[in-house]
Amino acid sequence: MNTPKTTSKDPRLGPGSLWSALPIPACRALTYAGQIKASQVLFALALHSSGVSTVVFPSRATIKKYSGVGKNSISEALQVLKKFGFIKISYVKVGRTHRNEYEILRACFHWDEFNEIASRYKIPKGHCTRCNHWIYRDGWNVQKGKDGIATIQVRIHRNCGGIVQDLNRKQMLNIRDQEEWAGMVIPFH
Ligand SMILES: [Zn+2]
Repeated sequence: MNTPKTTSKDPRLGPGSLWSALPIPACRALTYAGQIKASQVLFALALHSSGVSTVVFPSRATIKKYSGVGKNSISEALQVLKKFGFIKISYVKVGRTHRNEYEILRACFHWDEFNEIASRYKIPKGHCTRCNHWIYRDGWNVQKGKDGIATIQVRIHRNCGGIVQDLNRKQMLNIRDQEEWAGMVIPFH
């Protein structure tokens, strides 16, 4: 197959440069989901994809080297990536041996193509008043609490036990902005 080389208008990326596309939506959603190791493994896979092919086949040792994720955690991280719909894994015969091949899927690069699992982590749903982190779906437990004489439901952050509040409009807009400008690196906290 004759695949054209990816070109870029970025002046830093002319002839002689070596670069790959970093899947920003996928890496962000994985970070929101607390799946840092999966994010690091996806990063290591992306480092082996130079824009010519979406299929890469680094060995376990190479993934470990570039991701910093220990060998025992790589399988789990790969399963997370599969579950989120970010990669497809094939076991391919090459000569007398086999190797794993990883296809980096389109959804990695497009918020609106996320599957149902990945979609849960697009936007934070609350804010912890104790540890000051954004909280995502499934990140809290619901408990009964008192507001004066009324019984209300209180959301408790699973990690720290702090009370989770809804994001206010300004926080929501701020997050939406950051997602739309996902090319920019802006810290969340
Ligand atoms: Zn907290």
